[in-house]
Amino acid sequence: MSHIQERKEKDCLNCGTIVQGRYCQNCGQENVVPHETFWHMVKHFVFDILHFDSKFYDSMKLLLFKPGFLPKEYIKGRRARYMNPVKKYVFTSAIFFILFFSFFAEGGGLNLNVDEPISQKDRVANIKKAEKILQENPGDSLWAPLYQKLLDSSVVVTEKDLLPISDNFTFIGLGGRRYASLKEYDSVQKNLPGKEKDSW
Ligand SMILES: [Zn+2]
Repeated sequence: MSHIQERKEKDCLNCGTIVQGRYCQNCGQENVVPHETFWHMVKHFVFDILHFDSKFYDSMKLLLFKPGFLPKEYIKGRRARYMNPVKKYVFTSAIFFILFFSFFAEGGGLNLNVDEPISQKDRVANIKKAEKILQENPGDSLWAPLYQKLLDSSVVVTEKDLLPISDNFTFIGLGGRRYASLKEYDSVQKNLPGKEKDSW
């Protein structure tokens, strides 16, 4: 039920039926004053959210503490008093993704800030790693140039420079493609038709 004033006239504004209650028994339109002020809209919006929320919390409580109860009610046809399951799914997904991306996108579990310079400690560790690999394979096409870069303290080395040698790194492109390394990503992107390229 909305919180807008009911009309005194009983003819439905939508279909003309003489209504018996607050809602038209023919088309379902609420028989309320059609004039809505800005304040009404704000109120409407707030009430809608709270209404939605109370249904949401009620059904979440039931799902948690009385599992199986909601599906049974749904099958029996008692649906209006609970939140629609599809709506609830969409709503919880939206909340999940908002939370997920606000916590993990900024330097948390998913470190996507590849333009940060690496620390001195990482630099030393990678120089050691490079020396070991280059001893076995002096002409390594990934490590040889990186080694030169790491040795030259005037060159800033970023996380991005280390991506090609990172073993367990999966680069996720915007188009849903997966890439094992930055090198693969670059070569795949180069050969894609313009429209399918990730635009960044
Ligand atoms: Zn009507």
